[in-house]
Amino acid sequence: MRPDAPVRAYVGLGGNEGDVATTLVEALWALDAMAQTTIQSQSAFYRTPAWGRTDQPDFLNAVVELRTRLTARALLDLLLEIEQRFGRVRNSADRWGPRALDLDLLLYGDEVLDEPGLTVPHPHLHERAFVLVPLAEIAPSLVIPGRGELASLLAAVDVSGIEAIP
Ligand code: ATP
Ligand code: CA
Ligand code: CA
Repeated sequence: MRPDAPVRAYVGLGGNEGDVATTLVEALWALDAMAQTTIQSQSAFYRTPAWGRTDQPDFLNAVVELRTRLTARALLDLLLEIEQRFGRVRNSADRWGPRALDLDLLLYGDEVLDEPGLTVPHPHLHERAFVLVPLAEIAPSLVIPGRGELASLLAAVDVSGIEAIP
């Protein structure tokens, strides 16, 4: 259902193929240009070691806070559309592999959704330092529905090798 008031949503951005810094800057413009959505705040860009499949180049990652009147589903559909515009080709071998741009819907207000093609909070958010570090920069006192305080989650992950880009 369409929300009556703007919802605070968090989106994670990442990439490790091509000129990633430029891609992320342009992706931020695309996010801000989405209908009924504005960027409220954004983290620095972080250089992070690849997670899940380590045989690939480092990533750049960032997190943004949005205010949106879109439903979670409409928002995710737009994120997937923006990824494609930036040359993301999705195939089964691509999961956790190199990509020009990955946009994940991390949180949509305090909603917990588990539907085909749409899970929020993002199912790996709580265990990924490359998400928790930039998220803590812009929302240190956040509580992740079903997972607890961001600060506690952050204390439990390995943040080595994660550096903000000046
Ligand atoms: P991960 O999801 O573990 O970060 P990934 O980003 O490589 O891995 P993708 O190939 O980008 O995975 O996404 C696979 C599918 O996950 C997408 O088609 C999308 O429909 C689905 N999905 C479900 N919930 C979410 C969410 N909260 N954010 C992004 N994609 C989601
Ligand atoms: Ca992802
Ligand atoms: Ca994704």
